[in-house]
Amino acid sequence: MSVSLRDTRSHEAYQRALMYLPGGVNSPVRAMQSIGREPLFVDRAEGAELLDIDGNRYVDWVCSWGPLICGHANEQILEAVTAAAARGTSYGAPTVGEVDLAEEVSRRIPSVEMLRMTSSGTEAAMSAIRLARAATGREKLLKFAGAYHGHVDGLLADAGSGLATQGIPASPGVPAQSAAATIIVPWNDADAVRAAVAEHEFAAILAEPFPANMGLVPPAEGFLELLREAATENGALLVFDEVISGFRVAPGGAQELTGVLPDLTVMGKVIGGGLPAAAYGGSRELMERIAPAGDVYQAGTLSGNPLAVAAGLATLHQLDESAYLRLAATTEALANGLVEAAGDRPVQVVSTTGLVTLFFKDAPVIDYEDAKACDTEAYGAWCRALLARGVYPPPSQFEAWFPSLAHTPEHVTRTIEAAAAAFAAL
Ligand SMILES: *Cc1c(COP(=O)(O)O)cnc(C)c1O
Repeated sequence: MSVSLRDTRSHEAYQRALMYLPGGVNSPVRAMQSIGREPLFVDRAEGAELLDIDGNRYVDWVCSWGPLICGHANEQILEAVTAAAARGTSYGAPTVGEVDLAEEVSRRIPSVEMLRMTSSGTEAAMSAIRLARAATGREKLLKFAGAYHGHVDGLLADAGSGLATQGIPASPGVPAQSAAATIIVPWNDADAVRAAVAEHEFAAILAEPFPANMGLVPPAEGFLELLREAATENGALLVFDEVISGFRVAPGGAQELTGVLPDLTVMGKVIGGGLPAAAYGGSRELMERIAPAGDVYQAGTLSGNPLAVAAGLATLHQLDESAYLRLAATTEALANGLVEAAGDRPVQVVSTTGLVTLFFKDAPVIDYEDAKACDTEAYGAWCRALLARGVYPPPSQFEAWFPSLAHTPEHVTRTIEAAAAAFAAL
């Protein structure tokens, strides 16, 4: 059965947007190009539901790509932000809220004693790398194919062919030299990691401990432990980019879940509760290299912004033990329901608390090559069919679904019914 979406107003808005914004958007994935349609313009959102400007209502599984673990327009967050805004939106001077948030984060994330806030995850990753280079006196980075750490030059590097390869610029405008300082190996490939650390002296081994930017591809048994050992032996810092996994897969992120502790942690998304905030942190000794305590320069006009801090604190305060049990139950119900809806179709459903991916592939996905081999045409068609049935999935095969505390069993049921109908319509 074919169902179509009413999108006249979104189409008109998109035509206007194309005149003033490159591609009509302020961040590429929003354009929905990878599922072969035009973007839907949002009017408002509440809880787990999104309303577009044509009046369509969707169960939203994107939730701003991760920050909204409490759902849209969460009452406690709105109250905190409103109260903060009434006292002024930015001072460029310290506030007690920043200390409260840093204390709360350090209480949760095992390896973080101290942190520095930034406005975006990109900035936090970039600054963590600067600190790692200063602390080791080295320049090279080891990163994994398919991992995303923001759009900073040296981390926008693509792998060439082979096991461990020197990065090549992933975008025009990235200097070859920046990319070449980044060595790229396949995720979950222990031999490639061993080969790379035998050959190079690294400033940092940088990993998303639960990579979720090629779809969710969890670490193989023992792989994070191997990274820890390899970094220590090599004299490199282990940097976990927990921008997605932090405060999501467990209260203390992937490092609490797995017991593997990095030297530096990059945080973002949930930490800002839907406002622009991110951070990087680690031991007091490392972090006191940052100015003005130390000699590594890093700054930001809106860093530690009082509204973002209020939203972050109001988010973390809701993330108690029972919240994680609920999030885990919602995640499991969604994942199991998607498996059921798919029936005997060749798809792989992967999940961990707060994250789900459905790969259109007939065999397990363990690295980026596997992810890239997915049937992205089929994924796109399935997503378009979901949108027409009131479900808003991540509009890319390489992004995860983000269950939140606002998703109810009824939202899951509605999603599974739509998923089954969308499969049938393929
Ligand atoms: C989103 C993301 C970033 C970048 O954060 P921005 O706030 O978008 O700059 C970095 N690392 C990971 C793992 C991310 O998912």
